[in-house]
Amino acid sequence: MERHSTDTVSIQFGECAATLHEASSTHHSYKLCSDPDTFIYMKFMKSHCCYDAIPTSSKLVIFDTSLQVKKAFFAMVSNGVRAAPLWDNKLKCFVGMLTITDFINILHRYYKSPLVQIYELEEHKIETWREIYLQYSINRLISITPDSSLFDAIYSLLKNKIHRLPVIDPASGNVLHILTHKRILKFLHIFGSMIPKPRFLQKRINEVPIGTFKEIATVQESASVYDALSIFVERRVSALPVVNEEGKVVALYSRFDVINLAAQKNYNNLNMTMREAVASRAGWVEGVLKCYPHETLETIIDRIAKAEVHRLVLVDGDDVVRGIVSLSDLLQALVLSPAGIDALYS
Ligand code: ADP
Ligand code: ADP
Ligand code: AMP
Repeated sequence: MERHSTDTVSIQFGECAATLHEASSTHHSYKLCSDPDTFIYMKFMKSHCCYDAIPTSSKLVIFDTSLQVKKAFFAMVSNGVRAAPLWDNKLKCFVGMLTITDFINILHRYYKSPLVQIYELEEHKIETWREIYLQYSINRLISITPDSSLFDAIYSLLKNKIHRLPVIDPASGNVLHILTHKRILKFLHIFGSMIPKPRFLQKRINEVPIGTFKEIATVQESASVYDALSIFVERRVSALPVVNEEGKVVALYSRFDVINLAAQKNYNNLNMTMREAVASRAGWVEGVLKCYPHETLETIIDRIAKAEVHRLVLVDGDDVVRGIVSLSDLLQALVLSPAGIDALYS
């Protein structure tokens, strides 16, 4: 595990001069400073370990790599899990993760038409798929130990651009939990009340600014699900605001929602429109969780933590999409930037 120095360089939330309109790059530049408030969340994450953030009980599903991919995705649906560590019985160790992104990649790669069954989804084992896919992606399991700091966990999630980090007990080799950005924010939200509230939380999002404000990947409600999968694969974003002809956001389609295609067994019809796919989702969040440029960081963090979603869509007064404020952006800005580390945008 890489370690980082805590030290000297910091980011000033208070007087970052850039605004949403002025920001010169897709993301933003920060001004260096020495305001002690800047370090509060960084220190909090460095002083708590991954074990602290593990719930007392949670469900864990593990797949053997000899399992068929289709059965694995169906098992994810029936067990209500978003990801599973992969066990290689020949090597007798965990070799990777299976996530909804893998389901998206398989569908996108092999789908031909509603009339042709996706043979590879029906027939491939997880190990067959991995032999093909691992040439282009992470080919080892990225994990963390329970006594590593939450700071290190955040660094690993952001640096490796993953959303699932298994916590593995080095003594037994067992997976104890799968950490996510959401779980870490929840931990901060619950226990953060015991630490002083940094003044920069009163800054408005257009003053700080934290998030992505240019080249936002969106999908038209008249586009097909296959189009949405193509955007997921090409842009590697975690969710797409669904927009109407006027550019107003009408829904949000996240990678998680793609698992509905397995739940409803309609992955053979990727020609359906986003409008249809969104309407047929089971148990989705009502409406779009949004934020506005004049809202404070505190309001935004509260909203995202309470709704338990991975991001808010930044809109103007006409509901036109202006940006995305994701948990990755918040954790980068509140925890890693104060340590002088840019894991997300580098
Ligand atoms: P999702 O957002 O759909 O849960 P991720 O962004 O976490 O997916 O995964 C992106 C890719 O990285 C997938 O191919 C997944 O299998 C792989 N991956 C995710 N987490 C890990 C991990 N801890 N170790 C190795 N590979 C991982
Ligand atoms: P994950 O837990 O895998 O990170 P997400 O937070 O991306 O999942 O998505 C979980 C559910 O919440 C999905 O149905 C998704 O459409 C919904 N959701 C996520 N973000 C928003 C948002 N900003 N507005 C409305 N629904 C959202
Ligand atoms: P995430 O994958 O949501 O954890 O976010 C990783 C980075 O991608 C963050 O900087 C987000 O702001 C950015 N991002 C997420 N969704 C989108 C999108 N639809 N368009 C552009 N950037 C995005």
